[in-house]
Amino acid sequence: MNELTVYHFMPDKLNLYSDIGNIIALKQRAKRRNIKLKVVDINQTENVTFDECDIFFIGGGSDREQALATQELTKIKSKLKDAIEDGLPGLTVCGGYQFLGSKYVTPDGTELDGLNILDFYTESKKDRLTGDIVIESDTFGTIVGFENHGGRTYHNFGTLGEVTHGFGNNDDDAKEGIHYKNLLGTYLHGPILPKNHEITDYLLEKACERKGIVFEPKELDNTEEEAAKKVIIERVSQQKK
Ligand code: GLN
Repeated sequence: MNELTVYHFMPDKLNLYSDIGNIIALKQRAKRRNIKLKVVDINQTENVTFDECDIFFIGGGSDREQALATQELTKIKSKLKDAIEDGLPGLTVCGGYQFLGSKYVTPDGTELDGLNILDFYTESKKDRLTGDIVIESDTFGTIVGFENHGGRTYHNFGTLGEVTHGFGNNDDDAKEGIHYKNLLGTYLHGPILPKNHEITDYLLEKACERKGIVFEPKELDNTEEEAAKKVIIERVSQQKK
């Protein structure tokens, strides 16, 4: 049986609003394509290399946990940067997305260093951006989810798409997340992958391509995933009325 390995970084600190559901979704969709997904939890990064890693995942956390996780990940930041530049597929959520940038400024003005893997930054405010969110994406179609963050992220990289309901990266430009090479960063918790099979498949397909594994069947029966998506879309359209 074909096998892919997911590195799940800092699960002991970064698992807000059931981010772990992303790992379950990856496992399930991989299984339906006869791929065994091996998950390696990494809470200490000493001596970690990316040689065996096919996909990486980092969830979100409170400002405190995010700062502790950043300290730990600083030990491997150049290896993580090289892996991203090399096209390693990865998903990072909220706090895990924010610390890939150069800095995170807390609501009281304290500047915390990010990993500085990509040139962007986040400033947090006391009033939080929360609620259901809907995005129209050229790559993934309609994306739905839930957001809850104080951070406002600013960058000029590609994004996941245009926000049609909710906030996304900030309360300014109606864009959500980041899409750089095969790295995806997002503010969507809830978790994002079970409701958005297109994104789950994207990560798996890119990982298969890199490893020379045939990704099939390409299409799966998405009835349940689409039903979950529809719940959010309908709720949002009720809120608009
Ligand atoms: N630092 C994050 C924020 O902007 C933490 C929240 C999160 O990961 N959801 O609030």
